[in-house]
Amino acid sequence: MMSEMTLIDGSEGEGGGQILRTSLALSLVTGEPFRMERIRSRRAKPGLLRQHLTAVEAAQTIGAAEVSGAALGSLTLEFRPGPVTPGNYRFSVGTAGSATLVLQTILPALLTASGPTTLTLEGGTHNPMAPPYDFLARTFAPLMDRMGPRIELELKRPGFFPAGGGLLQARIAPVKRLAPLILMVRGSIRRRQAKVWLSKLPSHVAERELAVVRQELNWRDTECTVENVAHPLGPGNALVLDLETELVTAVFTGFGERGRSAEEVGRRAVSAAKTWIEADVPVEEHLADQLLLPLALAGGGAFRTTKPSLHATTNAAIIQRFLSVVIGFEQENATGWSVHINTR
Ligand code: AMP
Repeated sequence: MMSEMTLIDGSEGEGGGQILRTSLALSLVTGEPFRMERIRSRRAKPGLLRQHLTAVEAAQTIGAAEVSGAALGSLTLEFRPGPVTPGNYRFSVGTAGSATLVLQTILPALLTASGPTTLTLEGGTHNPMAPPYDFLARTFAPLMDRMGPRIELELKRPGFFPAGGGLLQARIAPVKRLAPLILMVRGSIRRRQAKVWLSKLPSHVAERELAVVRQELNWRDTECTVENVAHPLGPGNALVLDLETELVTAVFTGFGERGRSAEEVGRRAVSAAKTWIEADVPVEEHLADQLLLPLALAGGGAFRTTKPSLHATTNAAIIQRFLSVVIGFEQENATGWSVHINTR
């Protein structure tokens, strides 16, 4: 029995949490059990953190799974899923760990579940090294809608590190089968919007971040906004840049952190946006690694993007362990790559 389990090495490639989340997601969809060893062994604090445990617990709950090894710091996990049951669920990370990454763990299975689901997720909504709520709402969810399902997202309360306490709700109306998605041409940028999330921090932080945006990208005052968080639980800041094209809205984020200047937060978001603008491709770096899984589930798709990250190539390798697909990356010119997903 044990030997039949798919064995996943958590130290492969980028060696982080995404290997675990992708394995959980695809185990739920395929019904294939897996054993994972050396979980997040390339991270400073290896093993399961609170956020990963919540992702495991969420996957276990919606998929009636038998699980062993689900403990803080655990380097090994075994996961045997049962049937996926849609419905109303609430999961709480309990720290400022990312709630959006918990969502992405269970979302793929819910996109083709037998009925609709409402998820309430508590934790961080704007965490460094994770998709912020804005990215999910304006980049990711609309693309999933184009593949058939409907995802309605609502940010009830933003949550920042270290206080957390954010709250988001997702309503998912599934389809029988996901439709393939092709994103090869970017087209012109038809709307730009910079937004600063400010929680318990002075307004000059926002002003200095937006000054970088105006200076480096030549955006107008009317394209720059500040949202002061009502009833803040703790300090927090993110600069979010939206660039809307006909097919996709690219969202770039600079995260405020203790010891990082507002100018640096501004420069990080601006520099990511510039890389994408200059490459003239529709899909930016983070969307690229996150699109692979739904496209693989759809059995096909293709997109153009910037240089594939280690997250993207690692995710492709894990996806190919669970699904009969071939994911190919091909460099097209100095700044552009094409990615093709086909059924094997
Ligand atoms: P891991 O580091 O393995 O936990 O995976 C992090 C995930 O978060 C990857 O899918 C990244 O693409 C995604 N991610 C990190 N930063 C951002 C960002 N600024 N915008 C969108 N997604 C992000």
